[in-house]
Amino acid sequence: MANATPNNRPKSKREGSLVQSHQLETPIKMLLESGLYLVATPIGNLGDFTPRGAKTLSDCDLILAEDTRVTKRLMGLHGIKGKVVRCDESATETGLKHALKILDQGGSVAFCSDAGTPGVSDPGERLARGVIEAGYKVLAVPGASAALAALIVSGLPSARFFFAGFAPAKAGARADFFHEFAAIPATLIFYETGPRLAESLANMAKIFGNRPACVARELTKLYEETRRGTLSDLAAHYGQTDAPRGEIVVVVGGKSQESQEAEAIDLDAALEEALARLSVKDAAAAVALQTGIARRDVYSRALALAAARKQAVS
Ligand code: SAM
Repeated sequence: MANATPNNRPKSKREGSLVQSHQLETPIKMLLESGLYLVATPIGNLGDFTPRGAKTLSDCDLILAEDTRVTKRLMGLHGIKGKVVRCDESATETGLKHALKILDQGGSVAFCSDAGTPGVSDPGERLARGVIEAGYKVLAVPGASAALAALIVSGLPSARFFFAGFAPAKAGARADFFHEFAAIPATLIFYETGPRLAESLANMAKIFGNRPACVARELTKLYEETRRGTLSDLAAHYGQTDAPRGEIVVVVGGKSQESQEAEAIDLDAALEEALARLSVKDAAAAVALQTGIARRDVYSRALALAAARKQAVS
């Protein structure tokens, strides 16, 4: 059994040698530096699997997979053999235990999610945290990512973007969730499902206003579809059709400079009106309630406007 610690194992000396783990009866191949490898897999087009991804799966000592059938199919296509253990949301703790046993012995573990880059809205995040907390190395084997693929085809600004993941399933919680992102001045990226798409788009149109957006469906696959329009247009389109099939990402324009300026003007107008009849404190409290803008921001603006009014009078 290898007794090497995870981070200081002299890699070159043992490379290629087989070490038998008595604990797991898994031979530690020592072909890779010890650590957890988060291996990106295709989001549709199998040609998007990277040569390094294939080599990592072939050289590692244990493969954890969100969906063992999907990963085994990919391995079969590349002639890769190896032990594959299920590590989905309900089995992440078990997967972590398997991984730590291998890492304790200086071995290497790969994790593949269902599709795309592991660690983004899948069990890879918890797995990586557990491995980091145990003091072992986590390494990225990058490749396809649904969020980034959708962002780059959306035509929306990509200099700044915010990944929001999946919205909650329940209607009330979904509305609260969308409200959280309404003020962000960066392109927003959401993962979505077909049955909920039309309702989400309608919610977003109501909460965000009629911003530009893009629905990216089945990216890199045969029936890839990229539909761009305003949130209202897209809500109307998907409201009239059957729930679309397949995998979906919704990309939405961020809060624009113009709408921020319009809101600032609205805030000033509301405060001027309130300051004409109320104290600064009460005016700020009333306007904060009316606009939903944070009370301290409204208060500091109210102080500035009140000072300007005083100066104008004197
Ligand atoms: N970790 C993966 C990533 O970021 O690439 C995504 C995992 S998440 C559980 C799966 C979600 O990614 C799907 O529900 C869908 O929203 C999105 N997705 C995956 N493949 C896609 C594709 N080919 N086209 C559009 N969206 C896709």
